[in-house]
Amino acid sequence: MPLGPVKYDLVVRSRHTVLPEGTRAAAVAVTGAAIAAIAGYAEPLDAASDVDLADLALLPGLVDTHVHVNEPGRTDWEGFATATRAAAAGGVTTICDMPLNSLPPTVSVAALAGKRAAAAGQCWVDVAFWGGAVPDNDDALRPLHQAGVTGFKCFLIDSGVSEFPPLEAADLRSVLGALAAMDALLIVHAEDPAEVKAASGRDFGLFVASRPPVAERRAIEKVIGATAATGARAHIVHLSAAECVAMIAGAKAAGIRLTAETCPHYLYFAAEHVPDGATEFKCCPPIRDAVNREALWRGLEAGVIDCVVSDHSPCPPALKAFESGDFGAAWGGIASLQLSLSVVWTVARQRGRTLDDVARWMSAAPARLAGLPAKGRLAVGCDADLVAFDPDETYAVEAVRLLHRHPVTPYAGRTLTGRVRQTWLRGTALLDPDRGVPDDEPVGRLLNRG
Ligand SMILES: [Zn+2]
Repeated sequence: MPLGPVKYDLVVRSRHTVLPEGTRAAAVAVTGAAIAAIAGYAEPLDAASDVDLADLALLPGLVDTHVHVNEPGRTDWEGFATATRAAAAGGVTTICDMPLNSLPPTVSVAALAGKRAAAAGQCWVDVAFWGGAVPDNDDALRPLHQAGVTGFKCFLIDSGVSEFPPLEAADLRSVLGALAAMDALLIVHAEDPAEVKAASGRDFGLFVASRPPVAERRAIEKVIGATAATGARAHIVHLSAAECVAMIAGAKAAGIRLTAETCPHYLYFAAEHVPDGATEFKCCPPIRDAVNREALWRGLEAGVIDCVVSDHSPCPPALKAFESGDFGAAWGGIASLQLSLSVVWTVARQRGRTLDDVARWMSAAPARLAGLPAKGRLAVGCDADLVAFDPDETYAVEAVRLLHRHPVTPYAGRTLTGRVRQTWLRGTALLDPDRGVPDDEPVGRLLNRG
């Protein structure tokens, strides 16, 4: 490694630097926006700025591939400025925006252009975009792919918004065939409407029972069948039903190009502890019981579930129907972009997992999923997206400190372990060191796949 007279812009040192090959004492040297060298922790290096984190961990910035920003069109739910500020505070340096809940949804090149125009100049972290696959937008898939989307999202059940309808089984097959021809990824909300019942009222158990594991199972079976038949790449978003882990493992073992994610709330909460009427816990598929949670963790630890991403999906508090506590009426979505790292680390650490595991699940694997090779790793040539993380600090979640638009969260009052102390995006420190919030001009960029 050429470590001689080079002058770096930034050096960040840590005794616990989380590198792709494992955690060790190291110094990450940055020139411009990129990591230029990985050196020894105490190595003398000429740098404009030299930061020694000592025993704080140094992680690659998180890549959250499942974020609903909702701008333009439903910016009163969440927007680029608020979402990306929350991301920066939580150690997330790249988000991939979901194609629905904004108006229009990202199902055409024109809509993608509208997204980019809305996002430009107000992103504190880097932002990439998923396209949408809906009935009758077949002709838009290739142009969207060429325009740089990270892949395509589809639903197999009502999405909650009428402008983003689900695919039927036959559509799923033809979309996967079209995407296979361009080696593009399809990410799937996998619940089968034939197995889902309507639910209303304050009883959380009834709500969970209305969206049973078999709904996920039947939908994932369809995805596996269509993926096997077409040779396409597919990814199951927000897996909740742990009984599907074995089926996903079997598909992978058979060479089917399938991956899966789960979310912090499925790994942290258990249905039997959710109070009736507590609609801040509503999401679809639902949070299930503690036995299911344990099995999800085992699927993650075994490598069957590839990534953990937030499914950050906020809405105005009125849409959560807090007064009635009616799970049928409330919008389904949990906002946790700023808390994901702490939530996952809190439980992972109790289970004897390491920050290497967390960085694999929350940085490297999602970056690979979204086709962002410069992201998710502390390696020479990658973007200098860094997180200083105190793995021992505990804190109680206060909703007022959350930076997304409506600070409603089921994590309020919970004590979490592990706190972000600083986030660097392409070598630029984002957070005011005293307040832990972004304070400067937004320096995030809009990314294309690749
Ligand atoms: Zn989602």
